[in-house]
Amino acid sequence: MKVYTLGGYEEVGMNMTAVEVDGEVVIFDMGYNMENVISAEGHVDEMTTNQSLEIGAVPEDEPVLDKNVVGIVIGHGHLDHVGGIPKLAGSHDCPIYCTPYTAEIVERGLDDDRKNAGNQVIRLEKGERMDLTGNLTLEFAHVNHSIPDATLSLLETPEGYAVYGNDMKIDRSPVIEDTTDIDRLKEVGEEGVKVMIPGTTRVDSPGRARSEKSVEVELRDVLESCYDAGGAVFFSTFSSQISRLNSVIDANDGRRKIIFVGRSLKEYVESAEKLDLIDTDQIEVVSYFDEVEEKMDEVDAAREDYLVVATGNQGEPGAQLDKMASGTYPFDFEEGDHMIFSSNVIPTPVNEANRHKLEKKLEEKGVRIYPGIHTTGHAHKEDHRDFINFFDPEHIVPSHGTIQKLGSYVELAREEGYSLGDNVYISENGKCIDLDE
Ligand SMILES: [Zn+2]
Repeated sequence: MKVYTLGGYEEVGMNMTAVEVDGEVVIFDMGYNMENVISAEGHVDEMTTNQSLEIGAVPEDEPVLDKNVVGIVIGHGHLDHVGGIPKLAGSHDCPIYCTPYTAEIVERGLDDDRKNAGNQVIRLEKGERMDLTGNLTLEFAHVNHSIPDATLSLLETPEGYAVYGNDMKIDRSPVIEDTTDIDRLKEVGEEGVKVMIPGTTRVDSPGRARSEKSVEVELRDVLESCYDAGGAVFFSTFSSQISRLNSVIDANDGRRKIIFVGRSLKEYVESAEKLDLIDTDQIEVVSYFDEVEEKMDEVDAAREDYLVVATGNQGEPGAQLDKMASGTYPFDFEEGDHMIFSSNVIPTPVNEANRHKLEKKLEEKGVRIYPGIHTTGHAHKEDHRDFINFFDPEHIVPSHGTIQKLGSYVELAREEGYSLGDNVYISENGKCIDLDE
């Protein structure tokens, strides 16, 4: 078995890994690198594959271009896992496999991009098994993350399982969906795992990732205090964070009219509604300029009647929150209004600067700010230790992180009896690890 570490081995983002067994190759994830897309000030939709490769927006897939690729397997729908599909999938004459919510996002990406890839998108429910070839069988196992339908990809091969999952945690008090399917993971561990490819995004954080339910409790408290104090209340989280959106609807409990504002909110929520993951009966979703303008005029006139959920929590210029704070709409923030940020600031210089500017604008108008009502979707160190124990893999290839994060994972693996270069590896983008050497 060979593991091609194509993207996400020198950064957080742009994930892509391939596993080769007896000449058959399965690709896991085709993400893009948000930072490089933003820095190039381009619209990735309008770029050719070569242009995207040149600016480092998508992984360099040259090492697997001439291989017999039999399937592209997508673990969940975040853009650092699916964003490269429209650029890269078309080079391979094989289907894309994913769970239903992920499939909605993958198909939207393919439709939006002018250079459509012709690959068939095959929906596979968690727990079902599908033969990709006579030798390779795929199953998705349910895990908790920060988007619905997240999975670990379990590829059964004649040499044992290859387990790919590079965004996951164990949430024992989730808001929607169940806790990570620990029983199934342990069974697979007993059947024999040749290699596990885990993400390392938060392995350097001690303890365990907080539960989504604990955030819901905090959110209820904050919202209650805002309603008691009066004024307009604004809320923002990542648009794919469907659990959190459910929590804010529940916490509101019918007291104020809820408006969702922004295109990405509209898209993710529509997909979630199709799969019964959110109930939009109580909310109105607007995204076109005229619709938003009209709604914000109404909010301005009756500010205590509304809870506004808007995109743009990173302070991205041109996103809805930035527009609202900049006077684009017939609405003005007033002293005593409230802004709840149910997100973290993704720690890059661009994001930090944008968010600082947004907060400054709000503060100048006397808005009260509640940052960090949030938990991560990524396993902390002790969650990772559990995953190692569930699977008891022969080899581990840490992924989705900078060399520092890959190194932190190796430290943990050493505590569990692994040894660098023997059965746990630090790789780089574009390299290949032969596990049988
Ligand atoms: Zn993710």
